[in-house]
Amino acid sequence: MSKQFEPTHYLLKNVATGREFKDTGWLLNDPQCTTPSLIRTIYSKKQICFKEDSLGIYKFSDWMPVNHTLKGSSATVTYKSEGLAKALGLGNLYISLSGYCPEKGVTMTTCSFKETEAYSVCARLSQKDNKILVVASAGNTARAFAKVCSENNIPVVISVPEENIDALWFEKPLNDCVKLICSPKGTDYFDAIALSDKICTSDKFFAEGGAKNVARRDGMATTVLSAAQTIGRIPDCYFQAIGSGTGTIAAWEANMRLIEDGRFGSHKMKLFPSQNIPFTPIHDAWKASSRTMLPMDDDQARIAAHEITAKVLSNRKPPYGIAGGLYDAINDAGGDIELATNRDIEEMKELFLKTEGIDIYSASAVAVKGMINTFEAGKMPRDAVAMLNITGAGEEKFKREHADHLFYLKPSIVAAASEDDVVAKVEALFQS
Ligand SMILES: *Cc1c(COP(=O)(O)O)cnc(C)c1O
Repeated sequence: MSKQFEPTHYLLKNVATGREFKDTGWLLNDPQCTTPSLIRTIYSKKQICFKEDSLGIYKFSDWMPVNHTLKGSSATVTYKSEGLAKALGLGNLYISLSGYCPEKGVTMTTCSFKETEAYSVCARLSQKDNKILVVASAGNTARAFAKVCSENNIPVVISVPEENIDALWFEKPLNDCVKLICSPKGTDYFDAIALSDKICTSDKFFAEGGAKNVARRDGMATTVLSAAQTIGRIPDCYFQAIGSGTGTIAAWEANMRLIEDGRFGSHKMKLFPSQNIPFTPIHDAWKASSRTMLPMDDDQARIAAHEITAKVLSNRKPPYGIAGGLYDAINDAGGDIELATNRDIEEMKELFLKTEGIDIYSASAVAVKGMINTFEAGKMPRDAVAMLNITGAGEEKFKREHADHLFYLKPSIVAAASEDDVVAKVEALFQS
């Protein structure tokens, strides 16, 4: 924790009712309101000051709800594309890169923009929050939180399906304050969530909160702040692969702050999030002009989640219809939801590597395809100022460079949420 750090001032606002209130600590909802709604941060500083790059992501801390800074972060880097832009005939393509790509100046060693969330959420924690954080994840989120908590001595429980533990590779062994618990073989992300919910019934633990956590969204919003800093204006259109859509909601919120700032333009960028066929529930609801998700058969959803290459995009309960959620965002800003197949992903990964020299995650490849679809359909002119959010990159490079000493996190406990003594067992992990 840096001594000189001055936390920024902010209030929380209920998006549905407009009520503003103080953040009394880890609020995820308006405590005086039972109608579901996201809450949003309202920063006192309307003009953002971009602080020095050495602060990592905290260069954007004027617009982050954090009490302090943490070690080891890297900010997203935005640069003007030459290779991919030329290949696609785009005049003003900007790439916002999160991942491991030292030659571009971005060194997220867990390789995805989930680090922007983790560094923001964990820095929102204060001395008052003397409970243990619990995070459920299928992969990238787990890796990001495990790294940040390990390097900054923050106790955390990470809940992951046992089948996904191969995704928990790290640059070095983790500090003992990070405990992994797993739902048994044959279970998926939803069972890992159920397990984490069960752990949070104990008053020793508390849930990270996901999309409802303003720190999570404002962390992801820094990808757009990076773009605004590089370009000098709000982009005309925004491309990102989504599972929950939280990153795109965050992008829309960042856009509104930048309008209030006054120096970056007064327009809303059109939002073009994309999904991986056959797992397309947000796309399907949007195309049906429905604020609520369409009914989903449980087995079919599991099969579809299993089939897609971009596994991180398989969220079944996204913050879509809720006030201030993704439906409101695209309705307000304009845009559409695009699709990509598994085969498109292979092609786009190859294209990006060839034209930009960087290996990208399957999810990022979905965003590239979504962008191509948008331009090919004439939804945006080819000279539009485009922000392509490359949400994860450089894992292949990172693993090549660290092949001989990667560390794999092992579970302390493998258990189903239905087991009676599971809460006591997890509590016991922290007793020594
Ligand atoms: C989590 C994740 C996404 C999806 O993000 P949301 O905005 O939460 O839907 C996209 N790409 C990568 C690499 C991710 O890890």
